[in-house]
Amino acid sequence: MTLNYALSDEHNLVRTSVRSMLEPFIPRQKEFRELAKNERKFPEELWKSYAEVGLMGCLLPEQYGGNDMGLLALTLGFEEITVSGFSPGLLLTHAMDSACIYKNGSDQIKERFLPGMASGELKFCFAVTEPDAGTNTFRIQTMARKDGDNYVINGQKTFISGFDVADYALLVVRTTSLEELEKNGQPKSSGLSIFIVDTKSEGIEKTPISIPLSDELTQFQLFFDDLQVPADNLVGQEGNGTMALFNSLNPERILAGAICVGMAESALNKAVAYAQERKVFKDTPIGAYQAISHPLAEVKIDLEAARMMTYRAAWAYDEGLNPAEVGTYANMAKLLGADLAIKAVDSAIETHGGLGFTEDVGLINAWSGARLFKTAPVSREMILNYIAEWNLGLPRSY
Ligand SMILES: Cc1cc2nc3c(=O)[nH]c(=O)nc-3n(C[C@H](O)[C@H](O)[C@H](O)COP(=O)(O)OP(=O)(O)OC[C@H]3O[C@@H](n4cnc5c(N)ncnc54)[C@H](O)[C@@H]3O)c2cc1C
Repeated sequence: MTLNYALSDEHNLVRTSVRSMLEPFIPRQKEFRELAKNERKFPEELWKSYAEVGLMGCLLPEQYGGNDMGLLALTLGFEEITVSGFSPGLLLTHAMDSACIYKNGSDQIKERFLPGMASGELKFCFAVTEPDAGTNTFRIQTMARKDGDNYVINGQKTFISGFDVADYALLVVRTTSLEELEKNGQPKSSGLSIFIVDTKSEGIEKTPISIPLSDELTQFQLFFDDLQVPADNLVGQEGNGTMALFNSLNPERILAGAICVGMAESALNKAVAYAQERKVFKDTPIGAYQAISHPLAEVKIDLEAARMMTYRAAWAYDEGLNPAEVGTYANMAKLLGADLAIKAVDSAIETHGGLGFTEDVGLINAWSGARLFKTAPVSREMILNYIAEWNLGLPRSY
């Protein structure tokens, strides 16, 4: 039974449109899975269909080729894609980048990039993580120094998904070093800046990292050696990147929550169908045993709770609530979703017994994807730190 969330007609239409868009691809799921696994091949056909159904324009107004349907609409789209067994892939960073550019960029930068993002002609990835900073974004060291009409960037990034297929990366760097900030008595949250970088530029060396996930995206370690970026590609004001970053990270967490909800529903559907048909003792389906049915019932309850929190977070973003408040909902949605996805896939594997480990059933492939969301894009520990500090007012240990 599907629960009624009293979504608007427009939101329900998004759901049904995405579902119909995916229908012709469903019989070809195995083909997509094999292309992703064996060749890491980017699914251009799916990408075009995501654009045609309007998903890339949800966070953009008509003026820039978007449809302004909002993050809740996009969240529903993400859920549908994942429930159907596909991956939004690069659409996650593409959408979060479009929100960041729209909310912070100059008119000139919006006109240059947003129509191509809404139509899917341009693809965007996102690059913030550095090997020596990790979770602590304020510790990043990649520096951009102004030189005439350009900035010159030196440093490195790691785990950057889809850098090989993206046309541009939204790159987070420092324009003031931590040492300079300390000398000037400024907080370490200052001095971050965001640039749009052409991924094919000279001065970038990319090395793939071997991470056997089941989607088509490869992660890269990047080295920047005197990378020249036009000053016009600065998003927002130099040194004010932290607030601009919030406009990206909140949608990213909410959409990650939606992916987890979709993944969990897909696993639960498989488990329930199998539990109804599989008989091992006498003529009793295994779903009659409470050892099988109770974990699945718990997943169902957790699923609806995570879904509600994800919608709540998307609604808060669409209503333009203050980014810190949206951040609270976004973090909660991401944590509930990630815990749920792990539990759902694990219970579904348990229900399937040995079959749960076969590639054809697809659960063992889903496992690494579900587990990833406990760690990325923000780890479970850092979400708990955020809630303890900002919502409970508890002291910080780090
Ligand atoms: C498949 C994949 C795709 C990714 N894609 C991208 C991408 O496209 N772009 C991008 O910029 N990044 C990307 N990342 C990076 C990802 O966001 C980071 O891996 C993640 O944020 C964790 O950072 P870290 O790996 O440096 O872990 P660390 O920061 O080294 O943390 C290690 C562990 O210590 C814990 N820890 C650290 N500090 C604390 C603390 N104060 N309190 C409690 N626990 C703490 C962390 O929670 C974690 O469990 C990707 C990562 C993966 C694996």
